[in-house]
Amino acid sequence: MKVLVLGAGQLARMMALASTPLNIDVLAYDVNNNSVVNPLAPGESLGDLTQGIAECDVITAEFEHIDHAILEQCQRSGKLQPSATAIMTGGDRRLEKALLTECSVSNAKHVIVDNQQSFEQALSELSLPIIFKSALAGYDGKGQWRLKDSDQAQALWSELSEFLTENPTQALVAEQMVPFDREISIIGARNKNGEVKIYPLTENFHQNGVLSVSLAQACDEALQQQALSAFTKLTENLGYTGVLAIEFFQVGEQLLVNEIAPRVHNSGHWSQQGADTCQFENHIRAVTNLPLGNTELVRPTAMINILGTDTVPEALLAIAGLSLHWYGKTKRAGRKMGHINVSAADCETLVSKLEQVASLLPETDFPGVKSYIQSL
Ligand code: AMP
Repeated sequence: MKVLVLGAGQLARMMALASTPLNIDVLAYDVNNNSVVNPLAPGESLGDLTQGIAECDVITAEFEHIDHAILEQCQRSGKLQPSATAIMTGGDRRLEKALLTECSVSNAKHVIVDNQQSFEQALSELSLPIIFKSALAGYDGKGQWRLKDSDQAQALWSELSEFLTENPTQALVAEQMVPFDREISIIGARNKNGEVKIYPLTENFHQNGVLSVSLAQACDEALQQQALSAFTKLTENLGYTGVLAIEFFQVGEQLLVNEIAPRVHNSGHWSQQGADTCQFENHIRAVTNLPLGNTELVRPTAMINILGTDTVPEALLAIAGLSLHWYGKTKRAGRKMGHINVSAADCETLVSKLEQVASLLPETDFPGVKSYIQSL
């Protein structure tokens, strides 16, 4: 069995690592140079997309911002899982909001803005502060503008109208800023037979719009049920196959969807050590229509992203329950280079282990991590 992943980054790499014991080969398609590569040793080209499609049994994706012509070519082969529609929905905030409305899944109040009239409509229907997000190519807080003060509205509109003129396929989603208690996410899998399994809700700490730490521990059953309900409605509507992530804002006892990702997700990396079957294996199982593996929390686990640095203190490896995952990438400022998973038998022990880990991590490379851990 051969699976071709659209995208040749760390997510394809971790899918390959998780699939090897199942005798499933994962190849990756690098969209930047139209070449199929081995995601574990991406130097040499193994062919182009047409060859990759012909040689694989299943095609899937590690990111949603893929040229529509590529998605349509893959869809025509009958091998693409999840569908082109599902992937495009995750890559366009307009489609994402329409899906949430159609499925009656709660999310922040919003207005689609593509001209001055709809900008003014957003100002009258939403109350300040408002966040404007580019409909396409937005991730990790990129392509966002915040309006806190009505005095700034005209200046902001000048900037946004310039953006819309320069990018005619774009629009903006103006969204009410939500006074959330915390950000959490659910990762789940659905296979072709409609079998669904979700992991426990994960608490996410972001720094400058980028995920820094995810924490998976036993969680509130009512919240977990809300997340399952949203997951089921969205995946049934899309006829979805594979792993899907939903990011939420928690406001009191309510979950509001922030965004969805039609793929394995950074906030699910903890599952490599915290669950019997990690998200990468479950994605591959789902798209090859194998039974899904157990998604229960086996032990409380936290994940710490390594951003923009290619070294961490070796002493970390002496800590029991700690696993280090490098992605084999060249260092660049802010780039996701790897992650650290830390597991323990119970939450109290996990927090004290995390404190030990944090004391070894330089604040310059891991800003805010120490203080987040101290707040647990
Ligand atoms: P996003 O790229 O949509 O995930 O946004 C990046 C970050 O901006 C989120 O993780 C939140 O911290 C913040 N954010 C986005 N939308 C909202 C909102 N409607 N209300 C409050 N904070 C938001």
